[in-house]
Amino acid sequence: MFKKIQALCLLSAFALSVTACSTGAPAADQGGKLKKDDGKTVIGFSLDTLEEERWKKDRDIFVSKAKGLGAEVKVQAANGDDAKQISQAENLISQGVDVLVVVPHNAEVAAAIVEKAHKEGVKVLSYDRLIKNSDVDLYLSFDNERVGEMQAKAIVEKTPKGNYALIEGADTDNNAHLFKKGQMKVLKPLVDKGDIKIVYDQWTKEWDPANALSNMENALTANQNKIDAVVAANDGTAGGAIQALSAQKLAGKVPVSGQDAELAGIKRIVEGTQTMTVYKPIKLIAEKAAELAVSLAKGEKIATDKTVNNGKKEIPSILLDPIVVTKENIDATVVADGFHKKEDISKK
Ligand code: BGC
Repeated sequence: MFKKIQALCLLSAFALSVTACSTGAPAADQGGKLKKDDGKTVIGFSLDTLEEERWKKDRDIFVSKAKGLGAEVKVQAANGDDAKQISQAENLISQGVDVLVVVPHNAEVAAAIVEKAHKEGVKVLSYDRLIKNSDVDLYLSFDNERVGEMQAKAIVEKTPKGNYALIEGADTDNNAHLFKKGQMKVLKPLVDKGDIKIVYDQWTKEWDPANALSNMENALTANQNKIDAVVAANDGTAGGAIQALSAQKLAGKVPVSGQDAELAGIKRIVEGTQTMTVYKPIKLIAEKAAELAVSLAKGEKIATDKTVNNGKKEIPSILLDPIVVTKENIDATVVADGFHKKEDISKK
């Protein structure tokens, strides 16, 4: 609360008694109400959704790490609703959070959150997904282009020539564009050579597996089932695509990529209907984010080694390394890391 109280004290110095601005004493919030500042760091965590397996892990690990660091976390999930995410963020700001950590549903729309937070002296950490065209303070993610490269490379290794379908992520998510960019780095030279033909290329609205399923059905119908390989952007979309392939008795015959190392994805890799997934250790990103959020709240300087342009400026960034998972290294990666239990993977 320190920074905000200082700012508010400056603003309200004429209206309030000076003693109200000393640490531990009641201070005025924006609405002029008095609230107590006990010096505890309060973090607002605004998520797009909690409807997918990974984000629940992100939340749980983040909250527990932050608690360990002595901070309190207020969590809100908008479940894909932009207006709701903005109003939830506004609400967190008015509750006096010291810092906001945001997983934007919509990369562009979420810029409004940064603007509102900054007006109140609250810094914003863009978590996993970049908030575009804004002055967001920090971006922490995985190397998402690398994720896309890993997906395409694994599929090309299985099927170096033929008809490819691209089942991409949500158009509104900057990551979806980065995954595609990485994939195209691998695919473009092969397309140019004539080895690969991209016969279908579609975003998946809201990352919804049901939309991926109907996209894949369309891809199959439009090409009389002549699809030799599928680059799917995550395990959810891979699941939808594999369901469509399965209806045509093609599951297991056509390689399909994924991402997130979701339990369902790992199970499909074991049974042979999905070729690979990309494991992004959630513990790394969530714990790092909690540490960074506390530092931002305290106004500490953050060490970063790169910047990413978000359309408005270069954003100080930290990008973690993703890991390829295939049938061969499930034990050495997600199991060894405690991300999944061996018995859960083998459970029918
Ligand atoms: C994340 C992926 C996730 C997808 C859908 C992306 O921004 O990086 O891990 O699968 O959103 O939630």
